[in-house]
Amino acid sequence: MAKMNWAAGTQCVAKGDHRKPKPGELAYHKGDILTIVDTSTRKGFYQARHNTTGEEGLISSTNVREREALRVDPSLSLMPWFHGKISGPEAVGKLQPAEDGLFLVRESIRHPGDYVLCVSVSGEVIHYRVIYQDNKLTIDNTQYFYNLIDMIEFYSNNKGSIATTLLKPKQKQGAKSAELELSKTGWLLDITKLTLGENIGEGEFGAVYEGEYMGQKVAVKTIKCDVTAQAFLQETAVMTKLQHKNLVRLLGVILHKGLHIVTELMSKGNLVNFLRTRGRSVINSVQLLRFALDVCEGMEYLESKKLVHRDLAARNVLVSDDSVAKVSDFGLTKVDSKVSDNIKLPVKWTAPEALKKEKFSTKSDVWSYGVLLWEIFSYGRLPYPKMSLKEVKEKVEEGYRMEAPDDCPPGIYSLMKICWEQEPRRRPAFHKLREKLEREMGKHSPDPGSGRRDGIRILRL
Ligand code: ADP
Repeated sequence: MAKMNWAAGTQCVAKGDHRKPKPGELAYHKGDILTIVDTSTRKGFYQARHNTTGEEGLISSTNVREREALRVDPSLSLMPWFHGKISGPEAVGKLQPAEDGLFLVRESIRHPGDYVLCVSVSGEVIHYRVIYQDNKLTIDNTQYFYNLIDMIEFYSNNKGSIATTLLKPKQKQGAKSAELELSKTGWLLDITKLTLGENIGEGEFGAVYEGEYMGQKVAVKTIKCDVTAQAFLQETAVMTKLQHKNLVRLLGVILHKGLHIVTELMSKGNLVNFLRTRGRSVINSVQLLRFALDVCEGMEYLESKKLVHRDLAARNVLVSDDSVAKVSDFGLTKVDSKVSDNIKLPVKWTAPEALKKEKFSTKSDVWSYGVLLWEIFSYGRLPYPKMSLKEVKEKVEEGYRMEAPDDCPPGIYSLMKICWEQEPRRRPAFHKLREKLEREMGKHSPDPGSGRRDGIRILRL
């Protein structure tokens, strides 16, 4: 493979072992994930950090490959062995030639909604009916499972009361094993290296835990429902493509009883709670501007990738230990602009054309960004206070807009107003907004050089 000129921050995968490093070199094993820190130290070498041990040292550029993004591909499946509705005889046909431990799962034709585990053993196929009981799945009324993934994982490691452990999945035609693809691209993490800590949040689809992955503090989103996990797999695939200091970074995933999405830990939680719990007495307007700028830069990056977030709001912005705001929750992120299910749309954040005609675009994200600015400068208030969703929809359509939050700098309120232009084309792009915010920052920060904690430039115009 041709050698690439990699930038600092690139994640790469070790192609082989390097167990006996010379002084200054980094030790690693095949498949380890390393982050390039500096490319200019020595010819043919990169200065890199080991993602799991945190150690730093030189690595030979020929011994690593870049961690690829996972292709967003609907055939990518967490359950490639699931064949849907096929009959018993069809299942038997698929499990030929016979091989002990070859298996598949099908949905029963006679009892729709019931699953059947079909396993080849001693030249025959045994069909185990999976019973759904008290929200759990079981074959023998002894072992219970949250979902099929959980069940297959168990019987792949234990014989339990079935005739053989499951040895080889018979993949459905056209299905691609997510596990295999994740592992090939370097995004599959090792559950034995993860220590789960306290529950730090409840998402719509699962709990979020604090944890540690080989010395690094992480957040782990656990998704137990197999159908939801499959949907989140697409979210994860999107995240593998994105790297920016203002987007919550994906470290990888773990497949165990469902899906665990491992991201960097944002120890100060979500932005709404952060603002509400601290308030005016603790957070000054420069800090508010920094948050606004952080989010804007993250969105500018999404804009440059032609990705639409669709659910931008302060609750979906998280705050790191060093108080950098990062955009999270790419659950709805899509390249295309039509969505069929608008029942759950966050009305107070969604642009009128997106609410009415399902027209989502970067410009509808800009509208949401305006609402987020309002949330920031009102220290986490709920937008359109005291108005019902129905009222908001009607009034906004008629041209009503929120008033400026108390003590909001006039320049910032003008930004909100242009984000809320009825006509999407008239709203500014994120890169324009960023320039305007930087100008605003210049006005508020007495010493622009020390204005930011992480060296972001401030334009003096
Ligand atoms: P939802 O499903 O409601 O969009 P999430 O599942 O993403 O929400 O997260 C729920 C809550 O868990 C967040 O509001 C936040 O407080 C916490 N949380 C999520 N991800 C992280 C993270 N990476 N670091 C710290 N806290 C997090």
